[in-house]
Amino acid sequence: MRAVEEFDVIVVGAGPAGLAAAMTAVRNGMKTIVIERGEFPGAKNVMGGVLYTQPTSRLVPEFYQEAPLERPVVEQRYAFLDGDNAFTAGYRSPAWADPPYNAHTVLRAKFDRWLAKKAEAEGVLIITETVVEDLLYKGDAVAGVRTGRAEGDVLGKVVILAEGVNALISKKAGLHTQLGPEHVAVAVKEIISLPREKIEDRFCLEEGQGATLELLGDATAGMIGTAFIYTNQDSLSVGIGCLLSEMVKHQANPNDLLERLKAQPYVRKLIQGGETKEYMGHLIPEGGYKAIPKMYRQGVMVVGDAGMLVNGIHREGSNLAIISGMVAGEVAAGAVNSHDLSQQSMKLYQDRLKESFVLQDLYKYRNSAHLFEENPQFFTTYPEILSGAAHEFFTVDSMPKAEKQKKIWKMITGKRAKGDIIRDMWKLWRTMG
Ligand SMILES: Cc1cc2nc3c(=O)[nH]c(=O)nc-3n(C[C@H](O)[C@H](O)[C@H](O)COP(=O)(O)OP(=O)(O)OC[C@H]3O[C@@H](n4cnc5c(N)ncnc54)[C@H](O)[C@@H]3O)c2cc1C
Repeated sequence: MRAVEEFDVIVVGAGPAGLAAAMTAVRNGMKTIVIERGEFPGAKNVMGGVLYTQPTSRLVPEFYQEAPLERPVVEQRYAFLDGDNAFTAGYRSPAWADPPYNAHTVLRAKFDRWLAKKAEAEGVLIITETVVEDLLYKGDAVAGVRTGRAEGDVLGKVVILAEGVNALISKKAGLHTQLGPEHVAVAVKEIISLPREKIEDRFCLEEGQGATLELLGDATAGMIGTAFIYTNQDSLSVGIGCLLSEMVKHQANPNDLLERLKAQPYVRKLIQGGETKEYMGHLIPEGGYKAIPKMYRQGVMVVGDAGMLVNGIHREGSNLAIISGMVAGEVAAGAVNSHDLSQQSMKLYQDRLKESFVLQDLYKYRNSAHLFEENPQFFTTYPEILSGAAHEFFTVDSMPKAEKQKKIWKMITGKRAKGDIIRDMWKLWRTMG
């Protein structure tokens, strides 16, 4: 083995999961290295991206005083598109514009870089432009990682795999199986520049405030997925993500879907006059609880996206990454201090995630992926029903209201039989309620 230096903890990947793991390990006295393949942390990382304050504060208290954030989110809006029509609903709270906030929009290239600097200031060693190619073993025990560099072996007692959705090292280590097309969403995103005042006018925001808009139904051409528009300081993040299985089934192309979305009248007005500055694509692990791989083995833990820790229903991924990273960092330190790097010792990581919202939430929605795959009407017929019902309801045409209501009901049951609607609502309640 071409060993150079030995660490207590080696972290693969400098996304939120990896940086949280490394910072926690260092705070617990561990000599820690993060190995990142990108030119700098965040260089290749993609997120919508809404960053939640409370979980992030658990890693860096009051990070919002110094982190490069875009806008505090005061409104979360939903739009169900049906052709040129849009049925919208949302919630706005001006209280979210002030500390302790609920969430901020962020651009990952800036945020990850800042978090990495923070980690370095605390004593984490971060090596960039270095790809980890495999784990190193001493007998059955993990002994470090092999990188793509000459003289690139790094020895360590515990390896935390925070390598994101592709999880190549986790797969090599037998912790992850190949993801099926029903387990990942393909997402594309554009950053469209727009003057601040225009953003504030179009989203009815006070100066500096932000909003999120999720778009469903025809936004994704009825495929299982969502589209989004998030307000940054002087740009909008506009994107769309659908399950790969759906894209294949409908022979759809994410770029065409995004162009189609941008041309929809409701969306077109929001982005009008903007200039596309960046275009990026990424996968999102959407397999849910049932697709979570084995999260640990002797001397190894898998955190964040690599561990399928994404709650697509609530648009939560970065927070699950941070919390899982923090738990893994603590467990790693405990294992090193007690000289017990066994599989049993690493299992504590999974046990503690089970006690937290991370695995409890994913367990709660464990059947949702299946529900939506089996019932595409939630992304096709129901948005149409909502839009059609609203259209009729709000159209004033001298028709008596009792007659109008009958007409609406007839339209609804013409699209979906009454018995099917009751069954659908029951299934939805059982899965999500
Ligand atoms: C379009 C889109 C929108 C999203 N929107 C939101 C949102 O609004 N809110 C939210 O909370 N979440 C959102 N998510 C999910 C969120 O981005 C992820 O859950 C989160 O980034 C996971 O963090 P991570 O650290 O596990 O992985 P990543 O952020 O993917 O980081 C993994 C890191 O590992 C590095 N790496 C990989 N392999 C190697 C290797 N072999 N050697 C060295 N380095 C390696 C990568 O370069 C990368 O820096 C979104 C995701 C996408 C794609």
